[in-house]
Amino acid sequence: MTEPDYSALEHDLIQLLGPRGVSRDARQREKASVDGARMSPIIAELLPLGIADLVAFPTNAEQIAGVVAAAVRRGVPVTPRGKGTGNYGQAIPMSGGLVLDMSRARAVIGVSGDTITADAGAPITALEQAARAEGKQLWMYPSTVHSTIGGFLGGGSGGTGTILHGSNDAGFVSALDVVTPESDGELLHVEGDEAQGFVHNYGTAGIIARATVRLEPAQDWRGLYASFTDFAGSLSVLRKLGRMQPAPRLVSADTPHITAQLPPDDAFPAGRSSLRMIVDASIVAEASAIIEGAGGRIEDVREGPSVSAALSVLSYNHPIEWLQKSEPGVYFHVEVSGDALVDRIDDVHAVYPGGLLHIEAGHTVPIGMLAGIYESPEAVYAGIEKLGELKVGVHNPHQWNVDFRLQETLELAQSTDPQGLLNPGKLNPDYAGPTKGAIR
Ligand SMILES: Cc1cc2nc3c(=O)[nH]c(=O)nc-3n(C[C@H](O)[C@H](O)[C@H](O)COP(=O)(O)OP(=O)(O)OC[C@H]3O[C@@H](n4cnc5c(N)ncnc54)[C@H](O)[C@@H]3O)c2cc1C
Repeated sequence: MTEPDYSALEHDLIQLLGPRGVSRDARQREKASVDGARMSPIIAELLPLGIADLVAFPTNAEQIAGVVAAAVRRGVPVTPRGKGTGNYGQAIPMSGGLVLDMSRARAVIGVSGDTITADAGAPITALEQAARAEGKQLWMYPSTVHSTIGGFLGGGSGGTGTILHGSNDAGFVSALDVVTPESDGELLHVEGDEAQGFVHNYGTAGIIARATVRLEPAQDWRGLYASFTDFAGSLSVLRKLGRMQPAPRLVSADTPHITAQLPPDDAFPAGRSSLRMIVDASIVAEASAIIEGAGGRIEDVREGPSVSAALSVLSYNHPIEWLQKSEPGVYFHVEVSGDALVDRIDDVHAVYPGGLLHIEAGHTVPIGMLAGIYESPEAVYAGIEKLGELKVGVHNPHQWNVDFRLQETLELAQSTDPQGLLNPGKLNPDYAGPTKGAIR
């Protein structure tokens, strides 16, 4: 194993990227070493988990490959970074080393048929905009609409569009250009199943330098804002609305308490549960009839180019983030899924003191974020066990281990990164799952 040589690497990177393409400045290094992990009170207590020694800013896929090759040559670990919105510490350089900041490699290469290709640091909003200009739209995107395509594929899982297309490991990726320590500065072009091996494992098997993802014909979307006197009212129609055809892009609902923490909007009347949809213009009337038939009220129907993004940024973890902002230090959350979220909501809420669910109509079953008042890590894990007994699926956001297709990733990384230089600390063969030894 080569001893890390940071000075030699800095010299190499200046040659490759120019002096503005690499930084050892303390503020830059700190900025490049945090992500959204503060959403977890358990991880927050352990911060900082690592600080970069160097930060590199390549401007295209080829430079990304060159930077990885230089780091490997100098024995320096590499942690890829998109916009840094991941919320489990996955982007924190736990062994220090080089943070590979993708934010300047933001070219959208173009639309071809039903796919779009972009460099890893391209913002999701730029991809959607380029697709719309060609009469297309992305299959899906995360609620963090300004995050990068590389970060979404490396660390995210789904979002707006998931109702129809499932998570981002289910056919969304058409092809990737990846770079690994073994590829010696070359971009490896992988497609189909081979490409899936690099999705959602935090860059531990290979770093995505360029991505080609799927599009579909653009739709005329409306933002439908409704409300019910209570959360039970919103839940009573959520699955039915999610099954409508053409499929909505998003159906989200919140308890009255969470609704009150969202940014002020006349469409969120005090004391009521908000239900929001991104819905095809052709079924607004049908969706409204379902809502009103169940005792709900239509608050507004909005149109225009920003309706999709406006509702997306109120989905997934965002309502919990607003809750945490308005009551700092009180709430934690776990990611949950299953019909029990609708059918046994009182039992689900009762798992944690102050339990509050944000829910989305998912691809097969509802998915959501369950917030509760934070007491201790033990209480969080005990609740995860209880949720399992209620047949609620749980993803534990209080740990940074690769926990998706772990075995496959371990095998792939053994051949692509035998020295373990990619995002060290995240790929742990003995990771025991959501409730046991979660933090290491
Ligand atoms: C309020 C909030 C809401 C969120 N909503 C959603 C949501 O709806 N759906 C969802 O899936 N996620 C969501 N997330 C998680 C996260 O924001 C997204 O997954 C986002 O797309 C990550 O992109 P990023 O550019 O910020 O990546 P980063 O946070 O920078 O990186 C994420 C992970 O991917 C790795 N990575 C970064 N770039 C690359 C690359 N080029 N190649 C390989 N690995 C790479 C990083 O090392 C890290 O492990 C949310 C987070 C927050 C805080």
